[in-house]
Amino acid sequence: MNNTRDQQDGISMNCAEFQEMIPELFESGTNVSNEAHVLECENCAALVRDLEYIASQAKLLLPIHDPSPAVWDGIQSALRTETDNEAPAPTGKRS
Ligand SMILES: [Zn+2]
Repeated sequence: MNNTRDQQDGISMNCAEFQEMIPELFESGTNVSNEAHVLECENCAALVRDLEYIASQAKLLLPIHDPSPAVWDGIQSALRTETDNEAPAPTGKRS
């Protein structure tokens, strides 16, 4: 028997092998949806689309972690200002 589908010349790896590589491909910044296997395999193309959507959502969430020190600074200075207004600071007496 010479079943050409078993040779899979256009697909250098099977789905399991490809899916094992997906995290590496994403981490290396590769355009995963342009990978040969994705172009040949609808299952993996759908999977990659899902993962890219999740990754894009994660990127939207990431910036929230960055400004938190600045946000805390803002909160603290706001609290300090409120405290100053309620009670005179011991070191900054104005008369
Ligand atoms: Zn596949």
